[in-house]
Amino acid sequence: MFDFHMHSSVSFDSEERAADMVRAARERGLREICFTDHYDHSVFYEGVEEAFDLDTYAAVYDGLTDREVLVRRGAEFGLQPDNTEKLTWLLSQRSFDFIIGSVHNVGEFEIYTPPFWEDKTVDRAFAEYLETTLECVRIHRDFDVLGHLTYASKCPPNKEKRLIEYADHAEIIDSILRTLAENGKGIEINTSGRDKLGAFLPDATVIRRFRELGGEIVTVGSDAHDVARVGQYADEAIGICRDVFGYVCTFENRKPIYHKL
Ligand SMILES: [Zn+2]
Ligand SMILES: [Zn+2]
Repeated sequence: MFDFHMHSSVSFDSEERAADMVRAARERGLREICFTDHYDHSVFYEGVEEAFDLDTYAAVYDGLTDREVLVRRGAEFGLQPDNTEKLTWLLSQRSFDFIIGSVHNVGEFEIYTPPFWEDKTVDRAFAEYLETTLECVRIHRDFDVLGHLTYASKCPPNKEKRLIEYADHAEIIDSILRTLAENGKGIEINTSGRDKLGAFLPDATVIRRFRELGGEIVTVGSDAHDVARVGQYADEAIGICRDVFGYVCTFENRKPIYHKL
């Protein structure tokens, strides 16, 4: 099957060798994978910019092939309302098969870090995350799928982690999904929420709604940062794609490939 969201040591927050992840994919019977390393421009973790170095990227991935697994090269770009030109620049530097656009920041805060959650309720934080996501998908045009919609669900520190439910935020989630569909963008089912929250990001309710609103492109990704999670729950997520769309997508050279299920 497929896993179109994973990070190797090219990303600031993984230490795993890309070749080991490819081997894990082969052993688990995956047919096609895509590395999607972090490119969060001007965002820093302990002084390190959360954006891969293009020379390192090329050294690790150019020439990385496998006899059984098709290995694609992508990026997970951190969408911010004012950084469209950074993505344009990145795309001018080399070719990629696939670009995930993900919202990791709201204003000056990284959603994953405690300061974002201070002085506000979890519901307010979820609303701010969704408002920023809508703003970003209205502004950005150069990505292929929106990454892990409802990502903020797994980030509240020292507070109850719970899923952003479609029913509680239907209007704004519909606006996000409608904008994606109208712009020919897709959505991913990110399986990383499964263990922490018991649900994919986003869950099947949101995926079904995307289809109802005209969405046509759907991918599946584990968001693995190590070999243990490569391909995790991919079969289950692809089952949702089969039920809702009848296919799942992979990407080559920024063009979707539709795999009938
Ligand atoms: Zn992400
Ligand atoms: Zn990721």
